[in-house]
Amino acid sequence: MMRIGSGYDVHRLIEGRELFLGGVSIDFPKGLLGHSDGDVVCHAIADALLGAVALGDIGKHFPPGDSKWKGVRGQVILGEVRGLLADEGFKPAQVDVTIVLEEPKLQPFVPGMRSAIAQALEISASVVSVKAKTNEGLGFLGRGEAVAAMAVATVVPWNSTSSDF
Ligand code: MG
Repeated sequence: MMRIGSGYDVHRLIEGRELFLGGVSIDFPKGLLGHSDGDVVCHAIADALLGAVALGDIGKHFPPGDSKWKGVRGQVILGEVRGLLADEGFKPAQVDVTIVLEEPKLQPFVPGMRSAIAQALEISASVVSVKAKTNEGLGFLGRGEAVAAMAVATVVPWNSTSSDF
């Protein structure tokens, strides 16, 4: 019994922060503002996974007001979400994420992101898809004021084998 969830996140891009996307540190003059590390890629995937099992969203499980999660890295959140899924009898099967940002070009970082996400979720990088595109200069994303990410994830019962789906 496979289930599907979707997730979305956006964080403001500001000077003086390190940029983290998909669990990878990216050399860029700006970073994402947030109580956590602002990693929109990991956050969108976390929400997609939680959505697949109707467990609410990351704001519920990792409240921004809780000092425990201050500066928390995206991969740590993914690992925690994997645990929450397991408590429900499910595990991640596959994720697909689209990142929307004007710059920098992310192609060189995609393999690293796939591997960091896969490691955090304890799945193969072959079932982690990371795509990036610009917003064609339009709106707040096009002006480089923020980075957004959209994700879809499928989950399967924890004891499934890959031949089951
Ligand atoms: Mg977020």
